[in-house]
Amino acid sequence: MSLVEVERARREFPGGVVALDGVSLRIGQEELVAIVGASGSGKSTLLNIIGTLDRPTSGRVRIGGRDVAGLDDRRLSALRAHHIGFVFQRFHLAPGVPAVRNVAEGLLYSGVPLPERLERAARALETVGLGDRLDHRPHELSGGECQRVAIARAVAPRPRLLLADEPTGSLDSASGREVVELLRRLNGRGTAVVVITHDRDIAAELPRRLEIRDGRLVGDTGPPRKPEADRTAEEAK
Ligand code: ADP
Ligand code: MG
Repeated sequence: MSLVEVERARREFPGGVVALDGVSLRIGQEELVAIVGASGSGKSTLLNIIGTLDRPTSGRVRIGGRDVAGLDDRRLSALRAHHIGFVFQRFHLAPGVPAVRNVAEGLLYSGVPLPERLERAARALETVGLGDRLDHRPHELSGGECQRVAIARAVAPRPRLLLADEPTGSLDSASGREVVELLRRLNGRGTAVVVITHDRDIAAELPRRLEIRDGRLVGDTGPPRKPEADRTAEEAK
């Protein structure tokens, strides 16, 4: 079963802008996918619909096989809190708040008491290479470090799916590269990752690319072929 299934999603905004026009795709649990396309082509709209932050005007979205149209806002928030992490171009960290507290905020829905949230947040910061920056506030961190804090916050609840909307868009190319390496590493640990990028070099290195133009999916390189041994093992199941 695919982790994400989008079927003929259309999103029309008030005023008649059709931001998405019949997009269908599937994304598997092990995938790392780039979304590319010109500004205004519908990339963020698609990512928000995949992440259940927005609902399509028509069409269907399933996460883990479950049709999200049937979920009320409370259930949808719970699904997001447990299964989906978000990262944005401008980090969205709370200003003046230490990194470890920013990350602990990502665990609010976990029901875990604060001391354990802080402990888990510290471990998440270690995972992104910031174990020595726990008490730094956003203004005391570089852009690349802020983005790694934001990624730690997104993955602290161990989501199955990480969605990143131009996470390298505000960074110099070296920091951008580190962020992409980090996304790769998280994907290698079993988190599906979908990342919007303007950077052709970054997109070219990722195993699958979706291309959006005027709200339509005009290119999909498809999931990478598995090595022969894996396929045979899977077929034997
Ligand atoms: P991208 O992320 O590829 O730059 P978006 O998905 O943000 O593109 O936007 C696609 C189109 O939908 C654009 O024409 C944009 O102006 C429009 N749009 C996006 N969000 C809204 C909104 N909330 N209300 C009205 N129009 C919107
Ligand atoms: Mg966008």
